[in-house]
Amino acid sequence: MKLLHFLPLITAFFVSCNPPEGDYELDYAHVPGANASLSPLGGIKVLQSDVKFDQDLYSVCVRGGNRFISDKNLLLETELAYAAWLSAAGHTEREWELFSFELADDCPDNQEYLGAVVLLDEGLDAGSGELNSFPESRIVCQRSGYSYSCSAQSGTVGLGRWGGAGYSYNPRTGKWIAITSYNQARATFSQNIDWYSLAEHLTGNEQLSQADKDDIIASYEALSDSAKSFDELVEFNKKLANKKIISAKDKEFSRLFGEFQRSNNANLNKVYKPKLGLFHVLLHEVGHNFGMLHAHETQPPSFISVETDGLKVKIDGRTQYVATMAYGESYMYLTADDIAGVKSMRKDTEEYLASKL
Ligand SMILES: [Zn+2]
Repeated sequence: MKLLHFLPLITAFFVSCNPPEGDYELDYAHVPGANASLSPLGGIKVLQSDVKFDQDLYSVCVRGGNRFISDKNLLLETELAYAAWLSAAGHTEREWELFSFELADDCPDNQEYLGAVVLLDEGLDAGSGELNSFPESRIVCQRSGYSYSCSAQSGTVGLGRWGGAGYSYNPRTGKWIAITSYNQARATFSQNIDWYSLAEHLTGNEQLSQADKDDIIASYEALSDSAKSFDELVEFNKKLANKKIISAKDKEFSRLFGEFQRSNNANLNKVYKPKLGLFHVLLHEVGHNFGMLHAHETQPPSFISVETDGLKVKIDGRTQYVATMAYGESYMYLTADDIAGVKSMRKDTEEYLASKL
């Protein structure tokens, strides 16, 4: 006898990613493995199992033709983000071979394939509903005597979610008989940001010596021009981590701030387009694809969140946890807290799937 059962709808829940606010409490947080059984981590176990499933690869569809970053660089940066999380979870070249990364003109969602979609420049095509709702940002400046200040009211810049699955199971054993993937993990990025690539970020980086800069840019270009192995991607990510590279602040805000400072105007209040490096946002949204949640937000009790004496830094007088999955600094690498978090996510997913596959 077969019964059809769908996983809870929480799998279709989008995590909205806003700019920093408030203090940070947690080291890491993630959904229970049962909620993200077709995340990349669960997908690996499903593909390695004997359960009936029509897919033999975890396909990541990267939509080409955006206005900001070349197709080959967007593909490379997506691969780097996936390699970072998979490697942090303890996976190797063997599991990497279960993944395919393809550029396509369109990456439709809610399809019956196992995989993920990455959409930059969302909202370019009309009529995509909630996905078309990334807000605009605004800069507000005031001058009083000789003092002046500017602040940015920024909206959501990216969204990420994990995928969902339907399955039939044997009611006697609880084991799954067949699985259907019904929506993909997804990472989308606002059309209201002037995004730039990692190569551009590195060129303008002020933390690095010229020699380090040349070395990392040469590695990036070599990777974008050829087929790359998992180890090469991981090696590149290690360079970013070793140099503790943090993405630059919004360059357009700095430019407008300077312009206001030099002007005689009393006020400025206008919509503007922030200029941001994509990679740290991509790393964060792909983290959501893996089932990771914000480390600074209170999670429902059924979710997994861990607070320890993890790494902390003080920035502008506020204590912040050091995590790509917490709002704060724009880390371009996974921190110790992110790595502990994704290892926990993998453990929980595999424990759940061990009872189902
Ligand atoms: Zn987020």
